[in-house]
Amino acid sequence: MIYLDNSATTRVLPDAARIAERYMTENFFNPSSAYMPAVNVERDIENAREYLARTMGVNAEEIIFTSGGTEGNNMAIFGALGALRGRGRVVTSAVEHPSVYEPIMSLKNKGYTVAVAPVDTTGRLDIDRFRAALGEDTVLVSVMHVNNESGAVNDIETISAVIKERCPSAVFHVDGVQGFLKMPFSKLKCDLYTISGHKFHAPKGVGALYASGRIRFAGGQQGGGQERGLRSGTLNAPGIMAMNSAVEFYRADNARIIDGMYACKKRLAGNLRRIEDVLINGPSPMDGAPHILNASFMGVKGEVLLHSLEERGIFVSTGSACSSNKKHNRILTAMNISGERKDGAIRFSLSPFNTLEEMDIAAEEINIIVAQLRRYVRR
Ligand code: PMP
Repeated sequence: MIYLDNSATTRVLPDAARIAERYMTENFFNPSSAYMPAVNVERDIENAREYLARTMGVNAEEIIFTSGGTEGNNMAIFGALGALRGRGRVVTSAVEHPSVYEPIMSLKNKGYTVAVAPVDTTGRLDIDRFRAALGEDTVLVSVMHVNNESGAVNDIETISAVIKERCPSAVFHVDGVQGFLKMPFSKLKCDLYTISGHKFHAPKGVGALYASGRIRFAGGQQGGGQERGLRSGTLNAPGIMAMNSAVEFYRADNARIIDGMYACKKRLAGNLRRIEDVLINGPSPMDGAPHILNASFMGVKGEVLLHSLEERGIFVSTGSACSSNKKHNRILTAMNISGERKDGAIRFSLSPFNTLEEMDIAAEEINIIVAQLRRYVRR
């Protein structure tokens, strides 16, 4: 199998899976219970929180463990707005993941003004038009770090500076689900940052939200008051400890991991460019994130290519898994990609475990399939 759909999800690291098992079968205690074995689990979780906070360059009290990206994004948006009195303007980008885009669209019926800033043809936020979309009445901005379909990287520092200049009191949320551990960052220039474990070899159903101590934040669901009252619910100790192990894996050798993914991406892009009528979508490969490459095979239907590759044990996607059942691709459309180019688009997403050899095999298989499909179509 050659698995090139790591933006949809990743294989759990064996060490992370072993740790999760340990916190399910041995150290299974509720971290909120009063006896020693439970207190030990609570201590382990607090250590994991410290480690994650250090990785992100923030304080441990600013980390809220969640069930993943969708919850983190919803909590960020509604938790930030829930702490404010009155309404105002909420600004986002045209290429956000549905877990940001849909909640923000729902605000239109709740008395907020919603503005959607466009992206350029590479999928990056258009800074001038973003600046124009901001008004003094802006209360919340949500822009993603790395786009999950194009691999485009937004310049969070510049965006933050524009917000400070135009609407200094607005809260700035970043969906970092595809950016975390893939892009270098020292100090986060935002108030809220979402991460999701299953995008970096931790299990599904665990993630975290950084919520800066500088902002007023109402949090997510109510109940037993866990996570300082901001996210009630028994903590997912197996998931959190497994995610901790995956973060350790990435941090131990971060530069090598990122360089390795860039090397694979470069090789794959080079191989694909040698095939006739292939267009790269998004930024030029080395300008984008290390793990996402989107390319269109003109005259070929993306779904047909996907399933032909599947027959050969190669797994790719035609867009994000969350929207793959929808005909309309909002992301490519926002990048001004249409017609044959949109229909023939395939997303390849890499992990630290992919090899250069896999990039050669995948491209060779694609070359063969595309030639066959084009002959069939053109006959
Ligand atoms: N944001 C982005 C950019 C994503 O790629 C995804 C996952 N496709 C999510 C949010 C949702 O994360 P989760 O699957 O953990 O809910």
